[in-house]
Amino acid sequence: MSNVNRETLLPKVGRRSFLKMAALAGAAGSAGAINAATVTRDATTLELSKQFPGSKKVKTICTACSVGCGIIAEVQNGVWVRQDVATDHPVSLGGHCCKGADMCDMVKSSVRLKYPMEKVNGEWKRISYEEALDKIATQLDKYRQENPEQVLFLGSAKMSNEQAYYVRKFGAFYGTNNVDHQARI
Ligand code: SF4
Repeated sequence: MSNVNRETLLPKVGRRSFLKMAALAGAAGSAGAINAATVTRDATTLELSKQFPGSKKVKTICTACSVGCGIIAEVQNGVWVRQDVATDHPVSLGGHCCKGADMCDMVKSSVRLKYPMEKVNGEWKRISYEEALDKIATQLDKYRQENPEQVLFLGSAKMSNEQAYYVRKFGAFYGTNNVDHQARI
């Protein structure tokens, strides 16, 4: 990082300026089609700075990969409502890839898996973590007795070097070389 000029990496447009530009662009775009004066107004200073009253900003990190880019999460009544870049984060310097830029919506997604599920007779039903771990361990033990080479251990882009090392070791002790970090996805 010593050769990187931090100033050249930081965004040149602040959030407030960006919102003002967006408001101007929106007003300009709608003026030709409808009477903007009756349906739009300037955002107030309070709205520009505090769109979600009572919310607080929490520093966190993106969990979609092991880079761990910084995110400023805006939380209102316990719900993550908006996110901003963390320009002071030492790794990401305010940057995100497309996954991290949408982390807020991913967390709130209605199709997000929030607890272990098992498909029984074609229907998904919720089970406890203890049940899930017992079932997985039982199956892994069965496959290991039969032939450990029929199992493949897949890691995740979320895994750090150290975690990848543990998965590799686990696979070796299990009895197979079928191990992939899976970072290539
Ligand atoms: S998924 Fe993208 S935004 Fe998230 S930590 Fe990795 S590189 Fe950063």
